[in-house]
Formats: sequence, structure tokens, C-alpha cells
Amino acid sequence: VSGTGSKPAGRIEQLCSLISNIEFSVSNEVLNQFSKDESQLPAMLPEIVVFPKSTQEVSALLKAAYALNIPIVPVGARTGKSGGSLCTQGGVALSLEKMNRVLNVNVINRTLTAQPGVVLDDLKSKAESAGLWYPPDPNSSYSCTLGGTIATNAGGPSALKYGVTGDYVLSMEWVTPQGEVLRVGRKTAKGVVGYDLVHLLVGSEGTLGVCTEVTVQLIPKPKEVVTALFQFASVALAIEFVTKAMGQGAFPRCLELIDDVALSVSAWPGIQSETGAVIIAESDGFHLDSVLAEMNLLRTLALEIGSSEPVVAQNESQRASIWNMRKCISIELKKLKGLKFSEDIVIPIDRLSQAVAEIKKLGERHQFTVATYGHAGDGNLHTNVLFGHTDEWPKVEVLLREIMELTVRLGGTISGEHGVGLSKREFLQLEQSPQLIDIQREIRRMFDPEGLMNPGKIFEL
Ligand SMILES: Cc1cc2nc3c(=O)[nH]c(=O)nc-3n(C[C@H](O)[C@H](O)[C@H](O)COP(=O)(O)OP(=O)(O)OC[C@H]3O[C@@H](n4cnc5c(N)ncnc54)[C@H](O)[C@@H]3O)c2cc1C
Repeated sequence: VSGTGSKPAGRIEQLCSLISNIEFSVSNEVLNQFSKDESQLPAMLPEIVVFPKSTQEVSALLKAAYALNIPIVPVGARTGKSGGSLCTQGGVALSLEKMNRVLNVNVINRTLTAQPGVVLDDLKSKAESAGLWYPPDPNSSYSCTLGGTIATNAGGPSALKYGVTGDYVLSMEWVTPQGEVLRVGRKTAKGVVGYDLVHLLVGSEGTLGVCTEVTVQLIPKPKEVVTALFQFASVALAIEFVTKAMGQGAFPRCLELIDDVALSVSAWPGIQSETGAVIIAESDGFHLDSVLAEMNLLRTLALEIGSSEPVVAQNESQRASIWNMRKCISIELKKLKGLKFSEDIVIPIDRLSQAVAEIKKLGERHQFTVATYGHAGDGNLHTNVLFGHTDEWPKVEVLLREIMELTVRLGGTISGEHGVGLSKREFLQLEQSPQLIDIQREIRRMFDPEGLMNPGKIFEL
């Protein structure tokens, strides 16, 4: 299949002649589609979008692009929030969307093998129809791809109990920036041979090559799930509840915070007028008695600090309604002022209440509304700075830097799941020493001596 669009020139024209058997597009419409992701960063146009259908095509494309010195960026569904899939220097957007098949589910080994372009919810359904479960559940799972979640080491609400993407990756087929095809990892549950390259590549944000196939570990799906919504008069009380729950040995699947600002955009009918913050708690397991016992512990702790009786979902549709409210917050919040910038800091649980209070004060000092919601149970907060006009961006950046400085001062990390990408690159030195960044630079140069793979992301080469 040859490409579509107006006739490319120069190095891209040469590339087209080398990859004439691979699908590509240079039409303005497609280039525009691939110029944005879910960060608020400005559009960055690729010069060509290529849609390989096999590992061989990915390898051939990378070899050709490398020979012509053309930058290349792997792209999943562009739901990323830190600009990871944006083409900072034009070049090739390598879309994995046509490599979207689940190849195998092995019930005895409890493994699933898939191509990187599969949408996460499709993968999760395939696992569940085989009676098994793939826990990673980013709130974008209806559209994000397996490859994108591998490259960002995505988490989600259930990470509190079940961990993040990387905890489930057993092995991968990986194409290096120069087009060499590698197999890393193993297909067995355990294995300690050689360096753990799987966990170097997981979270590498498209800078060390392209994932073309993945084998993940599945687990049995908990049979019982109870979801409840707890309402508190203030964010401080909601955080006190989370801190107490964690300190007293509760092990829920998730504890999700929604603060007063985020709550103001939610039209969920059960929210009382005096509520200033909400925690969505979910307990799961194989025996209803133990799940209810845990939920009862959470209820007792919440009532002790003045929560009203929790709203406990009585069926799947009530459960879905609670989660739908949580999932809509990101989109609804944007409507409040027109623009927002979302961060995903992580704070140690015992400093969470201090962090939330100080972030509020920082917002007031800089005269911005800040909404905080997210995975409070593991300390991963989405702090959203809301603003009305792009002119305000320099002031927003000052506030974001102060939030990052506070995070590091409290022993936290500047990104729990979105990755550094482009938007957090300038903050990396706040958290990591120059020596540590240099070691990572050396590793990257070994994979990509010419610096062509997703240039400008995480750190400059
Ligand atoms: C509404 C909403 C809710 C979200 N909720 C969560 C959440 O709960 N948890 C969370 O972690 N994130 C969340 N995100 C962020 C985002 O969905 C994740 O980062 C996701 O993993 C990105 O997947 P993607 O397929 O869209 O990848 P993209 O955005 O297209 O790419 C992300 C990065 O992965 C690289 N990449 C993509 N595919 C490959 C590949 N095959 N090989 C190598 N590199 C590759 C890209 O170069 C880029 O650096 C949310 C986003 C939205 C819009």
C-alpha cells in the first residue's frame, strides 16, 4: 500500500521510497491528528505518519529512518498527558494502531500475549472471557493502548492493591532505534537471568525503541467487589480518613479522592450540600465476608471522623455510576475555566495532608484555582491548575514548579504515572542528581547514538 497526501520533499521523500510497501500518510488531516496529545502542550506536526502492520515493517521503517537521520516517535492512542508522543522535531510518527491483536491467552500459565496497539479494555475483556484478570486500569483504558501503558508504566485506581503495568510484564519483543529485533524477559512467572532489561524498557517513554509484542501475567479475578462513596466536610478530613485506613492495615483495591473544586463539576445525585470532599473506596476478594469486614472497618474509621453513612453501591449499575463520576472529572474540570494543566505527583501517605494543604495555599498565593483528585491511597494526586487564557501560562509554570519543589521536599516524586515526557523535563533535576541523569543519558546513547528516538523527551541527550 502506498501513502496518501501531498507529495513529500527531501529526506521524507527518500524515506517514502524506502518504505513504499508500508502504509503511511502525509495528508494534512492525518498530520494534524498526530500533532496533539492530552497534554496542554502546543501542537507539533510530524512530517509523515507510518502505520506498520508487523514487527518486520517496524524494523524496516526504523532502519530506513536511522539511515536517513530522521527522528521517529512511537505513538499509541495519544492519551498521554506529558507530551510523550509529540514530534518535537517533525520526522516520523510511528503509529502502532494497526498492530492491535491479542495473539494468545494461556489459561494454565495465566499469560496473555498481545500486540502493542490493542486498546487496553479489549485486552482486559479477552483476559476476563478466559476467566482471568489483568489489573492495570488507567482511567483512559477505553482508548489507551497496551504499548502506551508499557512505555509510561501506567497505573490507575487499583494500583493501590495490585500495582502498576510493569508489575505484570513478563517479556517483550522490542525493536531498537536502529531496527534490531530483540526478545527481552521470559514467559515464566519467575526468572532472574541477566539484568532486568524488561524493567529498563518499561517506562522508557518511547526513547529506547519500540515495543512490538508483550506477554503479561494474568491473575484470578476477585469474585467479590464492594464499592462505597464516603462524604466528608473537608479535604483535610478525607485525607485523614485515607491516612487512618492505611495506618490501620486496611488493604482496599482503591481509595480515590475528589476535592471540593473537582466535586463542583460533578452532577452526581447522591452528593450532600455540606460535602467538601469525597473518597471512593473499593474492597475486593474471594470471600464476601472478608470484603465486607474490610468495608466495615473503613466505615467505622470514616464515621469516627465525622463522615455521613457511606453510599454503598448495591449493583453493577450503581457501581458504574460512581466510577463514571470519577472518570468524567478530567473532562468536566477543563470546562470550568477553559484550560487546565494536570500533574500527577506522588506524596508519601504520612505527608499527604500537609501536601494538600500547602498546594491549596500555593494556588491562592498565585491566584489560581487548583483542583486535586486521584489515587490518594497510594499518594498519587492529580493536581490541576485551572486557567482561562494561554497568556497566563508563564504564571502557571511558576506555580507548577513550586508544586514540584514541594513534592520533592516532602519526599515524593514528580510523576507517578504520566511520565516525564516533555512537560516535566525541566523538573527532572529537582528530583534526580546530575550523576543519575548522566547514567541514564549513557544508557540512552547506547541504544540510540544519534539521538533520533523520541528526541527531547525526559532529558536532552
Ligand atoms: C481521561 C484520561 C485518564 C487517564 N487516566 C490515567 C490513569 O489513571 N493512569 C495513568 O497511568 N494514565 C492515565 N492517563 C494518561 C494516559 O492515558 C496514559 O499515559 C497511557 O498509558 C497512554 O497510552 P497511549 O496509548 O495513549 O500512549 P501515547 O499517549 O500515544 O504515548 C505515550 C508514550 O508512550 C510511547 N509509546 C506508545 N506506544 C509505544 C510503543 N509501542 N513502544 C514504545 N513506546 C511507545 C510514546 O512515544 C509516548 O512517549 C489518562 C489520560 C486521560 C486522557
